[in-house]
Amino acid sequence: MPQDLTAELAAAAAVLATATDVTLLAHVNPDADALGSALALGLALHRRGVAVRVSFGAPADVPETLRGLDVAGLLVPAGDIPAAPPVLVALDAGSVGRLGPLGNRVAATIEAGGEVVVLDHHVSNPGFGTVNVVDDRAEATALVVLRLLDVMGVEVDEPIARCVYAGLVTDTRSFRHASAATHLVAARLIDAGVDAEAVARPLMDSHPFGYLNMLASVLSRATLDREAAGGLGLVHAVVTLEDSEGLRPEEVESVVDLIRTAQEAEVAAVLKELRPSTWSVSLRSVSEVDVREVAQLLGGGGHRHAAGFTAKGPAEQVLTDLVEALARS
Ligand code: AMP
Ligand code: MN
Ligand code: MN
Repeated sequence: MPQDLTAELAAAAAVLATATDVTLLAHVNPDADALGSALALGLALHRRGVAVRVSFGAPADVPETLRGLDVAGLLVPAGDIPAAPPVLVALDAGSVGRLGPLGNRVAATIEAGGEVVVLDHHVSNPGFGTVNVVDDRAEATALVVLRLLDVMGVEVDEPIARCVYAGLVTDTRSFRHASAATHLVAARLIDAGVDAEAVARPLMDSHPFGYLNMLASVLSRATLDREAAGGLGLVHAVVTLEDSEGLRPEEVESVVDLIRTAQEAEVAAVLKELRPSTWSVSLRSVSEVDVREVAQLLGGGGHRHAAGFTAKGPAEQVLTDLVEALARS
């Protein structure tokens, strides 16, 4: 069951009903849930004549697989985001830090008397907005956005439904982590015209040929540590800048989905090199281990079975720290 957020949804709808200028921010390295959520709401507001900008703090480029969701040209570079927008909406960001270099817009907007609406599904979200709609039982932020659109009386047409579907299909791992009610939401979106396979395939199942060679190299170095996580096992792999050269973030992000298939390990970790010796680490667990707790010990966050953190230093040190955090959690 979703949380009862009637009052919060009404407050968010009230802010947006009178807004004439709305800035929507996804978290850094945006995924389909973050950008799909921002674009779904952005499209609805744009249609009402609101001045809308959608952006994210980093990297500079919009992920190729998500560009097609922006049918109205709402995406702008981070540098074009005003210092203190009148209405700011943060989507799928569990903390201000997840907005990266645009995080400072939150305090600036509030100080200038503006509104910050937080739409999210991270249990650890502190509620950093002036209006916070955070449902940790929602499988995706896109579902929170859909509920808001319904409260706002927006007609959910195909372009909006496609954005919502993109967030939903990815965050639920193709509806494997979706409640019965969420399957009904998927049915509604498909009824609105979404071509499920056409949306999901580029997001989850399609890579350039060079991906296969990258995988061959990365997977050949994957390591199983049976003792880690109290004997439940950890499987880990490292994707260096050399491995990912010429490939998109999409290729790098998908590696963890293969690593996590190792039966001997409850926990999977992939170290993704962002800059020399700076790592974004993806954590996944099968059942017992709460990887959000582990990630939080290391300065990150996430969900029970999918979390992450960033770290600096040699990969070996990051792995040592991870094993230690797993032992402590
Ligand atoms: P990823 O492995 O990058 O797909 O991230 C999985 C989940 O972990 C995301 O949906 C976020 O909720 C969370 N997450 C990833 N990286 C970070 C980070 N650096 N700080 C906080 N949360 C993170
Ligand atoms: Mn996300
Ligand atoms: Mn999400």
